[in-house]
Amino acid sequence: MRQEYETEIIAVGTELLLGQIANTNAQWISQQLALSGVNTYYHSVVGDNIKRVESVFKKAHERASIIIVSGGLGPTADDLTREAFQAIYDDKIVQHEPSLIKIKAHYKKQGLIMTPNNERQARVFENTEKVIPNEYGMAPGMIVNYEGRIWVFLPGVPREMKQMTTDTVLPYLEEKNGKTVIQSRVLRFFGVGESRLEHDLQDLIKSQDNPTIAPLAQKSGVTIRLTAKAETINKAQTLLEKSKTKVLEKVGEYYYGEDNDTLQEKVKNELEKAGLLLASAESLTGGKFAESLISVPEASKVFRGGVVCYDSLVKINMLDVPAELIKKEGTVSDACARELAKNVALKLNSNIGISFTGVAGPNQIENKDVGTVFIGIYINGLEEVHEFKFLGEREDIRYRAMTKGFELIYNLLTKKMS
Ligand code: ATP
Ligand code: MG
Repeated sequence: MRQEYETEIIAVGTELLLGQIANTNAQWISQQLALSGVNTYYHSVVGDNIKRVESVFKKAHERASIIIVSGGLGPTADDLTREAFQAIYDDKIVQHEPSLIKIKAHYKKQGLIMTPNNERQARVFENTEKVIPNEYGMAPGMIVNYEGRIWVFLPGVPREMKQMTTDTVLPYLEEKNGKTVIQSRVLRFFGVGESRLEHDLQDLIKSQDNPTIAPLAQKSGVTIRLTAKAETINKAQTLLEKSKTKVLEKVGEYYYGEDNDTLQEKVKNELEKAGLLLASAESLTGGKFAESLISVPEASKVFRGGVVCYDSLVKINMLDVPAELIKKEGTVSDACARELAKNVALKLNSNIGISFTGVAGPNQIENKDVGTVFIGIYINGLEEVHEFKFLGEREDIRYRAMTKGFELIYNLLTKKMS
């Protein structure tokens, strides 16, 4: 029968606490476990200090049924994972002969003298259930079964840890567990807030537990993560597909793509389908729009380029905005955005021109409030200008303006309402 495991991943290493490296081991192990249907409940990080490692181990032994430890199996004095585990597990530490032979052979082959501390790496608990072979390094890993918990010890070096997890740990857990897979899918939305999305989906969210439905606000827009558990990938995907249909029945009007889709990519594809060329005139966004469109491969099929018209001089000299218009209306104005969008399209021989002019802050310009942004769009002779009041710091406002530009063009091309 399938058992529900509660897994804790413990990373040992002071460099993690100092912020010198990120705990990518825990991230990777969690991802792999999820694919095998094993739930991770806790990530812990502790420095190379025996008392604190002991206390983290004790805590994990109380609250988890699988505990995976990475780091601290090496040759140096600060590698003390085994010693710390003895605080809960009363077992002798012994030399693992095959590993010792391997370490000695390695030094001989390299023509190096082996210092005694290198023998430390070959140590395992006498009653280790399974010694985990290390293909890329010296220290073997261990699986220890104790008081109904499965303790797994792995080196910290990511390449070694991954090989040992893939080749030994996951097959071991799958055999114990009976295989379940977890698959998830991220649905991407724009033009709607997280709370609105959650409100519209509240009945679905409450009534479904497989797949689970979780809204999340991200910088690039709101997303919904669907996560399904099943015996096979196909079954999990079918559950996801059904759930996606239900979600889109309610909030499909805001949906633009899933998983790694980006709005930039979508805009590029829509422009290509329609056979339209785009050009940009950017004041407060300073080239962000162009940069993020050009990051899509083959953007050259749809994007001519753009002008960073930050100063009025550029607006006047390069993009023919009449000096009198600026004097009268200001640069942060409907009229200026209109001229910029039209003129950049015409000068760069494009079907569509988009312009950004506004107040990124921290101070007002032309008596206009921080966050006031005009986005102009010229498309084959038609002009429209949208005014926005964005909230946040300078960078937030510039980012929101850029993203809004993509949303407007995407809506225009797909005839959606914004
Ligand atoms: P070794 O046996 O090679 O000494 P170890 O088991 O003692 O390894 P550590 O000394 O803790 O492990 O780490 C070795 C290296 O692996 C570190 O220099 C670090 O760059 C990397 N590393 C350790 N832990 C992590 C982690 N949680 N995430 C990402 N990288 C890590
Ligand atoms: Mg080490």
